[in-house]
Amino acid sequence: GDALVVAHRLRMWYSVKKGLFSKPVYVKAVDDISLSVDRGETLAVVGESGSGKTTLGRTLIRLLRPTGGEVYFDGKDITYQPEAELRSWFRRRVSIIFQDPYSSLHPYHSIGFILEEPLIIHGVPKSERIERVYRALEEVKLTPPDDFINKYPHMLSGGQRQRVAIARAMILNPEFVVADEPVSMLDVSVRVEILNLLKDMQRKYNAAFLYITHDISTAKYFSDNIAIMYAGKLVEYGPFRSVIKEPAHPYTQALIEAIPDPDPKNRLRPRKVAPGEPPNLANPPPGCRFHPRCPFAMEICRREEPPMVEVRPGVYTACWLYVKR
Ligand code: SF4
Repeated sequence: GDALVVAHRLRMWYSVKKGLFSKPVYVKAVDDISLSVDRGETLAVVGESGSGKTTLGRTLIRLLRPTGGEVYFDGKDITYQPEAELRSWFRRRVSIIFQDPYSSLHPYHSIGFILEEPLIIHGVPKSERIERVYRALEEVKLTPPDDFINKYPHMLSGGQRQRVAIARAMILNPEFVVADEPVSMLDVSVRVEILNLLKDMQRKYNAAFLYITHDISTAKYFSDNIAIMYAGKLVEYGPFRSVIKEPAHPYTQALIEAIPDPDPKNRLRPRKVAPGEPPNLANPPPGCRFHPRCPFAMEICRREEPPMVEVRPGVYTACWLYVKR
């Protein structure tokens, strides 16, 4: 493919110091992850809270500086580029939509200014700016724009605020957008329309999207490929439909079995959800991190980390069940 974003053995460990004289503890939020996102591709990153998916998204756009490995954007190594340099070319080509529309918009800025600000920062001339702000509001269906431009975030509903956040994220026509749980704090009744809006924007601008979610059932809106994370590790990766139809990794299987069945006849059927809690990332289990919850765990799983292997064309998984030994 035509890779736009590439992570190679990416690592983001936070050091946490418990007491003055104790050694720092490393929280391995992203541990040795390699993946790539092509131009215009939508990759859903699915995992529980604490799986490292938010850290992964932020590291890929250098809101966080990785502690190991490399990140490339459009062929350039951005792993350790200083912020001043990133500002001159990278920042206007990527953006992020945050989970919480109540805290991500500046409370004292008008909607008009919230949308104009990125245009000012990146040097779009004043003569163009107003028109682009109007167009952006129309695109996210906050119409007529005159009704919104002088309002403040607190005057809008959660869904409307998230529309503003989407408009702001798209206003510079970015090539790569990280959408971090963009609907999980919204009313259930508006989630589908916001997901559809994101999908429309993605298509219209042909931007690559990293759609981060804990809810695999919303990932179908962003469905070229899917990456499943567990405890800071990538455990399965491949084309969305193929992975959903035939999940290889036992954790992916458990996630898919946990999707509520829309058919009421089946709603009470027992589900095989993996028991237990996700591990503490400061002290993850040795070997395969999923082994304490895995119904298929073998001796080797407790000792050695499984390598990523291709189980079918384009589908990769990190599980000893698929390693020929
Ligand atoms: Fe289960 Fe072992 Fe596969 Fe891990 S490597 S998912 S413990 S079978």
